[in-house]
Amino acid sequence: MSWQHTIEQALQQQHARQGWRMRTVHAAADRLPYLLINGQNQLNFAGNDYLGLSRHEAVIQAWQHGLSRYGAGSGASGHVVGYTEVHEALEAHLAQWLGYERALLFNSGYAANQALVQALARKDSVLLMDKLCHASLQEAAAQSDALVRRYGHCRHDVLARHLAQHGARNTLVATEGVFSMDGDQPDLLELRRLCDEHGAWLLVDDAHGIGVCGPEGRGSAAAAGIQADILVVTFGKAVGVAGAAVLCRHSTAEYLLQFARHLIYSTAMPPAQALALHEALHQVAKADAARAQLQANIHDFRQRFVSGSLGLLPSHTPIQPLLCGDNDAVLAAAAALQAQGLWVGAIRPPTVPIGQGRLRITLSAMHQSEHISALLAALEHIA
Ligand SMILES: *Cc1c(COP(=O)(O)O)cnc(C)c1O
Repeated sequence: MSWQHTIEQALQQQHARQGWRMRTVHAAADRLPYLLINGQNQLNFAGNDYLGLSRHEAVIQAWQHGLSRYGAGSGASGHVVGYTEVHEALEAHLAQWLGYERALLFNSGYAANQALVQALARKDSVLLMDKLCHASLQEAAAQSDALVRRYGHCRHDVLARHLAQHGARNTLVATEGVFSMDGDQPDLLELRRLCDEHGAWLLVDDAHGIGVCGPEGRGSAAAAGIQADILVVTFGKAVGVAGAAVLCRHSTAEYLLQFARHLIYSTAMPPAQALALHEALHQVAKADAARAQLQANIHDFRQRFVSGSLGLLPSHTPIQPLLCGDNDAVLAAAAALQAQGLWVGAIRPPTVPIGQGRLRITLSAMHQSEHISALLAALEHIA
């Protein structure tokens, strides 16, 4: 078998199982919440820019200011010459704002999760994670030397049994603050209690909670009134930019600086981006009005949704998934919405379990009542 043959065979299989993934080209839209695709405006119900910060004037200006002052790129890994005063200030701000001793910047949430699991999942450690945790956590765990157990989604009773069995070893429990494909949230208070009872550490990946939940948008853990031992926040969603940070104790940060390969062997984020992020986080903290609008939109959508053949999952977050079943049904529903200028994510296995293909509708503070009405009318038609 040749490489060419192997690749073509894999592509054919992907086609045959209706799993083909492709990207859509977007032009610069003139305003939120629109997308510009093939010259047509589409209402964006698929993105994660929940507060509309990607277009915030102050954030854009901060990035521009950073570019003129520090140039386009950082020039090296943070361990070499890529770590600037703006990176340091941003880390200090994050740590202070979220109530941790330290924050470490990463180029993406994907990298942060992989680095964490690689560094912490040692031969003598135990990793217990929710079955629906993000691919970045699952994959790093699968490749690690640790004992890994995935518990059923939010089955904290099952987790408790694993903890009772393995609790004596270095154990890390990993969850998301808001599950990215279901929009639901774990009982963080219960998770914190279980971890404390068994001396385990709790890792919360709050990619979809930061900016959206809790006082000042400090996320799911702040909303639940608990502190995770390790918190991952990402900046490509509600924060509107890109990048991520790990919040942790001082010694954990030093440990990661020694052993996290994604920090050591990767170019640090551009300083201008760090400056833009610093501004974006100030805007996040001040965005109570946008968060209230977002909650009102979520409430409005759920109130007015008329259930037909589509199953709306019980979510109180901006992620509102509609189960459609098989791949054909998901793709047909997404295409019907697109024909009406409504852009919604079509999520299929393996991103979600087989048979649980769904439209992943995301709401933002930028949606207006008539946008939601248009979506609801189209959904009723499909159902
Ligand atoms: C999006 C996402 C990530 C990855 O973050 P990026 O910064 O986009 O790489 C990690 N975890 C969860 C739960 C996510 O939804």
